[in-house]
Amino acid sequence: MNWWNLIILSLSILVSNRTYSQEPKNKSMEDQKKSDVYSRTDTSKVNLTNEEWKERLSPDVYNIAREKGTEWAFTGKYWNSKDDGTYYCAACGNPLFVSDAKFESSCGWPSFFEPVTKGSLIYAPDNTHGMHRTEVMCGRCKAHLGHVFDDGPPPTGLRYCINSVILDFERAKEAENNFNGK
Ligand SMILES: [Zn+2]
Repeated sequence: MNWWNLIILSLSILVSNRTYSQEPKNKSMEDQKKSDVYSRTDTSKVNLTNEEWKERLSPDVYNIAREKGTEWAFTGKYWNSKDDGTYYCAACGNPLFVSDAKFESSCGWPSFFEPVTKGSLIYAPDNTHGMHRTEVMCGRCKAHLGHVFDDGPPPTGLRYCINSVILDFERAKEAENNFNGK
């Protein structure tokens, strides 16, 4: 190996180390989430083809949202989270749940007893995998979110069992700071 090759090699190691040690990975995910259809205030429906969604969502989010995938239990970002704030649809920004309606269900997925509003979600019967379940989708973009079961706590008795991947969380404190322009 000559000197030139060695320099190139050490440079490429340096560059690859930098990419791993910094955070732009999250940053690009963040940018990807905030696609042209992402809005936390626009309530108009979003109707895109799967091809169009594929261009806008990360593979993880696409798998849950459009292919009705399920993340492994106890692996998601929010199943155990107790922070105060609001959970939005990661595909379109629609407000879905608030932390006040979240409870510990020990099932391994974030669980809520009610959505932000009735119109936040839409429901459909799901008879796949030999089970009779009720699928829950985003009321704005129809992204698959998870399922709802009737073994939840009061006041509703419902348990909305939702994939973390399709949730985009904003802490109450951050929302306040953004609002105040800090
Ligand atoms: Zn949505």
